[in-house]
Amino acid sequence: MSTTNTYSFFESVEKSFDKAAKFTKWDKGLLEQIKACNSVYSMNFPVKMDDGRIEVIEAFRVQHSQHKTPCKGGIRFSEFVNDDEVKALASLMTYKCAIVNVPFGGAKGGIKINPRNHSAYELEKITRRYTAELVRKNFIGPGIDVPAPDYGTGEREMAWIVDTYQSLNPGNIDAAGCVTGKPISQGGVHGRKEATGLGVFYGTREVCNMPDIMKKLGLALGIEGKRVVVQGMGNVGYHCSKFFREHGAKVIAIAEFEGAVFNENGLNEEDIFQHRKRTGSILNFAGATNIENSSSALELECDILVPAALENVINGVNAPNIKAKIIAEAANGPLTPEADEYFVENGVLVIPDMYLNAGGVTVSYFEWLKNLSHMRFGRMEKRFQENMNKHILNQIESTSGKKVGERDKDFILHGADEIDLVYSGLEETMISATKEIMDIWKDNPQIPDMRTAAYVNAINKVALSYIELGIFP
Ligand code: NAD
Repeated sequence: MSTTNTYSFFESVEKSFDKAAKFTKWDKGLLEQIKACNSVYSMNFPVKMDDGRIEVIEAFRVQHSQHKTPCKGGIRFSEFVNDDEVKALASLMTYKCAIVNVPFGGAKGGIKINPRNHSAYELEKITRRYTAELVRKNFIGPGIDVPAPDYGTGEREMAWIVDTYQSLNPGNIDAAGCVTGKPISQGGVHGRKEATGLGVFYGTREVCNMPDIMKKLGLALGIEGKRVVVQGMGNVGYHCSKFFREHGAKVIAIAEFEGAVFNENGLNEEDIFQHRKRTGSILNFAGATNIENSSSALELECDILVPAALENVINGVNAPNIKAKIIAEAANGPLTPEADEYFVENGVLVIPDMYLNAGGVTVSYFEWLKNLSHMRFGRMEKRFQENMNKHILNQIESTSGKKVGERDKDFILHGADEIDLVYSGLEETMISATKEIMDIWKDNPQIPDMRTAAYVNAINKVALSYIELGIFP
């Protein structure tokens, strides 16, 4: 195993793709087309900063595939953004959407800035100008390309995007569907904010409920009692920690870039979040031990390691020090191919990013559907369902002569709200995606790992789509 990173992020994705393509029956030309990034838009634009200085901002939008439209993928704010990274992330989006049966092509955007170095007003100007540049080249729209939040962005940025798009497209009745991850008041959907973290939890829980896999790893069945380490306390890391904790796992360590905190009895993410907000650092949290070197938290003894920050954090150098039995890839591309290879050889189960963190795009799909239908989920059927349940319950009580307890009654009578439907749609999506991948893996014992099985699933679906378009024989 090589101990240095020999591949760029995009090359890593291509390498994983090639490894899986061998297990498919598709023509070389078709495979080349699936792998290629169709459109790469690289731009520079000037923005006047608060001190009067003009800064030239470098940004990208990559549409990896239009085999289904619109294209879909987040926008990242990071000083490390480059075209290779955005291409890699756009490719992963195509495969991710295919895996969870979301009918979009993959895309991704990136603005090369450190958001911490800009005021809210500067960030707003940068976001609005970026959106205007996308409009100028027809790279955004509810039927063209629909961005979403990613590293360094959230609801606030999505609200600026939808507002800019709407003002440049007056009268477009579907304009709210030009971006997802919006605040509820701007056309967002309940459950989008926590969707990626919740999807990571559902996916990991499914795997932990598989007796053969758990036996092979020497772990007890189920999520309860599992010792979890989470890297990153942003949107994804926070919600992963929350759902693991709420379902009986113990989050024993949380790492941020300034350091990590550890408590064998488990940490509460909300307390840590508030502490960091108050003091500016995750460190010195009462009731936890400091780990000054943040990356050494990845090497703690635990059952599940959840990297939820950035790519390439586990590589050929630190992979042999990792003690987790399961690595749940909440971030995109946290493992280099060298690390991946090491874990396959050493029996560590890697649950791959493009399947595991697909909760965000799944609920983004629900949000987009909500925007196109111009109505919140559950509005038409909630009351009908409640009345029907009441009627059935009354019948049961009168024929049996028994009364149902108040708690059960409340549960049975409750008609689905938007959040109930979103959570159940996401749970169903993650359960069926897990089953599809595991079936492919079981049917072909030559497939070495879950990532390759996930890629095979994605490649087959995208290939069929191209064939149905009549482009390839
Ligand atoms: P975020 O900006 O909300 O949070 C990322 C956090 O990671 C920040 O708090 C940052 O300080 C921390 N961090 C950065 N480098 C670190 C390091 N070396 N060690 C420890 N912590 C570090 O971003 P996010 O939306 O939570 O995204 C995180 C990852 O999940 C990214 O890879 C992103 O592409 C992926 N992802 C996000 C979504 C989504 O819906 N937001 C969906 C799918 C995948």
